[in-house]
Amino acid sequence: MSDKDMKGPATRLVEAGRRKDWTRGIVNPPVWRASTILFDDVAALRDGVKHPDDGLYYGRRGTPTQWALADALTALEPGAAGTTLHPSGVAAITTALLAVLEPGDELLMVDSAYEPTRAFCNGLLRKIGVTTRYYDPLVTGDAIDALFDERTRAIFMESPGSLTFEVQDVPAIARAARARGVVSLIDNTWATPLLFPAIAHGVDVSILACTKYIAGHSDVMLGSATAVPGVFEKIRKMGQGLGHCVSADDAFLASRGLRTMGVRLKAHETAALEIARWLEAQPLVAKVLHPALPGTPGHAYFKRDFTGAAGLFAFAIHGDDAARVRLIDSLDHFGIGFSWGGFESLALPIDPERIRTATRWVSPGPMIRLQIGLEDPADLIADLAQAFEGTAQ
Ligand SMILES: *Cc1c(COP(=O)(O)O)cnc(C)c1O
Repeated sequence: MSDKDMKGPATRLVEAGRRKDWTRGIVNPPVWRASTILFDDVAALRDGVKHPDDGLYYGRRGTPTQWALADALTALEPGAAGTTLHPSGVAAITTALLAVLEPGDELLMVDSAYEPTRAFCNGLLRKIGVTTRYYDPLVTGDAIDALFDERTRAIFMESPGSLTFEVQDVPAIARAARARGVVSLIDNTWATPLLFPAIAHGVDVSILACTKYIAGHSDVMLGSATAVPGVFEKIRKMGQGLGHCVSADDAFLASRGLRTMGVRLKAHETAALEIARWLEAQPLVAKVLHPALPGTPGHAYFKRDFTGAAGLFAFAIHGDDAARVRLIDSLDHFGIGFSWGGFESLALPIDPERIRTATRWVSPGPMIRLQIGLEDPADLIADLAQAFEGTAQ
């Protein structure tokens, strides 16, 4: 490990990506808006063509504003070669998959994956001749080895899973993949590299919807893929081939968000755990799914591998959909909407049983996902309490 890797995570969050040749001594990397980059003469232009990724070349390849963010995200994943930026989290996922798969290959996809990830596998990947086999997120031991067959070229994880929060045995899956020359990828959006540095745990590609905790203020769409040597270059080439670029303004906002992500995640964690434990004691609540709570599938892996929890979890209620709708509609402090990772709390009805194919999801009742924001937890609990009272009547 280099000195850089050994700094504490909070220090890395503050210092990462602020190279002086990019910031010119300004604390934050300035917003460099650019399409055309001017060369001094034709010789300089011809020289630039030989090294398009080594400096200012053309706006689509980025400016120090985007490079500073990519550099910072790489610094959070010890062992990574680099990071590519994409216009959304979904774009990062689809680009990474396209970069490592060829027609005729098979992809192993976790059954708890984010729904648009599945849609891409069942849509475009299928159309170009890549088959997807879904697998149980809780696969362990010998069953992991049994997943792979000779056409398997990549295995995709998401831990904890979208909506259902199972924590996977990521190190074991990554190890089995690497032993076979299969590329392992993870959607690491929930934990971020701060709570789970995926590359250090043996994964080849760590993907983030920076839209969530990195930007952290519900005002940016952005994705990233951080990868080991050899895979990083493939993803960069695919992203450039697809014409992906992100605006300097969005990259700036994400860099700015990153600086406070450590304290934000701690606040999200503390408040969400307090609320999850309070929910467990409510008669109307049938089950709480939070990776840090015993009883959530994969909790032992969470305790072994993660350094903390984020602020997104789910619970099931006793009752029907009408009771669920009444409950959500009567909340005052929780917005109703997609996405998460911002400063504001959100509530969402979720139905994971409709999505699965490799495993059956059985819930004791209708489910609600909560994103716990940075409000006072006491206000959020009081809000939930009044909503439960109204719903129970
Ligand atoms: C939101 C989300 C994404 C997609 O990110 P976008 O920036 O909205 O495209 C991917 N994975 C997970 C787990 C998400 O929650």
